[in-house]
Amino acid sequence: MSGNFLALAQPGVQQLSPYVPGKPVDELARELNLDPAKIVKLASNENPLGPSPKVLAAIREELAELTRYPDGNGFALKSLLAQKCGVELNQVTLGNGSNDILELVGRAYLAPGLNAVFSEHAFAVYPIVTQAVGADARVIPAKDWGHDLPAMLAAIDAQTRVVFIANPNNPTGTWFDAQALNDFLQDVPEHVLVVLDEAYIEYAEGSDLPDGLDFLAAYPNLLVSRTFSKAYGLASLRVGYGLSTAVVADVLNRVRQPFNVNSLALAAACAALQDAEYLEEGRRINESGMLQLQAGFRELGLGWIPSKGNFICVDLGQVAAPVFQGLLREGVIVRPVANYGMPNHLRITVGLPAENSRFLEALAKVLARG
Ligand SMILES: *Cc1c(COP(=O)(O)O)cnc(C)c1O
Repeated sequence: MSGNFLALAQPGVQQLSPYVPGKPVDELARELNLDPAKIVKLASNENPLGPSPKVLAAIREELAELTRYPDGNGFALKSLLAQKCGVELNQVTLGNGSNDILELVGRAYLAPGLNAVFSEHAFAVYPIVTQAVGADARVIPAKDWGHDLPAMLAAIDAQTRVVFIANPNNPTGTWFDAQALNDFLQDVPEHVLVVLDEAYIEYAEGSDLPDGLDFLAAYPNLLVSRTFSKAYGLASLRVGYGLSTAVVADVLNRVRQPFNVNSLALAAACAALQDAEYLEEGRRINESGMLQLQAGFRELGLGWIPSKGNFICVDLGQVAAPVFQGLLREGVIVRPVANYGMPNHLRITVGLPAENSRFLEALAKVLARG
C-alpha cells in the first residue's frame, strides 16, 4: 500500500496554497500564440528599466570565478551595506532574496505551539514561512486595506514569537508613519521579533514613510528586511538582506544555507548599491508612471488604493478575474489579487510610459466590452 503523501505532510503545510507568481511572458506567448516582444508584463513589481550597465559589467567580471563557491560570508556586500546603513558588519544577514530572510526567521523562531501575527492582505510569504514550520498564523483584519497596528498588538500573546509588518505593504501599497511605528514598537513585548519588511522603501524616499533603520538602536527586537529585487532591479538574481542586532543575525546565520547568495548576485548587488543614478532614474520613472496610471483610472471612473510602492491596486467595482483574462488576450499581464482577499482589485506594477499606456488602452477596451 502506498502512503498518502499529502495527508502525511505536517498539518500546516497541508493547509497552505503554493505561492502564485506573476504569469511569465513566455508562457502567455505560448498559450495565445503571441509575439513575446509585444507582451507587456506589469505583474511582479519588477523594475521596468532593465539591468544597469554597471551591474552587467560586474557580473561579466565575476563570471571567470564561476567554478568556485561564493564567499559564504558575503564580506564585500556586507561591508558596503554596513557602511550605508550605519550598522556593524555582524548585524547584516544576506539572503537568497529577502524571502530567504523571512524564511530564516520562521525556521529560527517559530515552531508548533507558537504563532506569528500579520495582517490580512499582507505579503503571501508570511503564511508560507509560518505554516511551513507548523506554527499558527494569526491573521488580523486590515483597516482601510492597511495594517491595523493596535489590533495586531492586541493579538500578541505569550506564544507569539514574530510579527510581520510590511511598509509599504504588498499588494495593497498602504503604509504607516513613524509615529504609528514607534507607538507599535514601544508596546510590543520584548519576546516578540518584529520583522519590518521594507521591500519598497527606496521608492518612498521623501515621504512620511519611516526608515526602519532609525529604530534599530532603540529596539533590539526589530529586524528590518530589504531587497535588491525591486528598486535595484535584480529580481532574477535573488538577493536581499536583514538588519538586526548581532544576536539575531547570529541566530539566523546558524540556520542559513552556507552559500545562500551566489557570486553573481553578490557582485551585482555591490555594483547596484553604488549606482545612485539607476536608483534615481527608477524613482523618477515610478513617480511619473504612478501619476499616469492614476490619471488613466480617473478617466475610466475607477478607484484605487493609494500606494507608496512601485505598484497600485485598482478597484474595478466588479469581480476582476474576467478583466484579468481579457487583458491577457490583449497581451497585457497584471496581477489578480483574489488570493489576497481582494477579488475586485487588480495589482498593476508601474511600468515605462509606453507600457502604462498599453495597459490603460487595453483596460479601456476590455471594460468597454463589458
Ligand atoms: C517583492 C517583495 C519582497 C522581496 O522578495 P525577494 O525575495 O527579495 O525578491 C519582500 N517582501 C515584499 C512585501 C515584497 O513585495
